[in-house]
Amino acid sequence: MGQTILIVEDHEKNRRLLRDVLSYYGYTIIEAENGKEGIEMARQYMPDLILMDIQMPVMDGFTATTILKSAPETKEIKIVAVTSFAMTGDKEKILDTGADGYISKPLDIKALPTLIKDILFREPAPVSV
Ligand code: MN
Repeated sequence: MGQTILIVEDHEKNRRLLRDVLSYYGYTIIEAENGKEGIEMARQYMPDLILMDIQMPVMDGFTATTILKSAPETKEIKIVAVTSFAMTGDKEKILDTGADGYISKPLDIKALPTLIKDILFREPAPVSV
């Protein structure tokens, strides 16, 4: 059903790997090189999901995710943070941005398509009343 994934990642080698794997699974791939460009692409193309690198020049993934998840027009876009940090507390810091999930580098390429599918089909969290 032609879902679109925006890859926001500063390293061309990592973008190529993600693009190759996810294209194989049938996703349409668009790309950005930093958080600022990622926000612009997200607003313009409204992808179904964003793979958001954390460590990037210009604007990092924490900031970009926080901005996208704070804006009514982009908050429904699923965001999976991609982190190379292994420190305790990073999980909480990432989830505080509103990200729907996160994965660690080095990427487990075999597990990635399943993770993405799970998040794309996950129901929104119930709203408390
Ligand atoms: Mn990076």
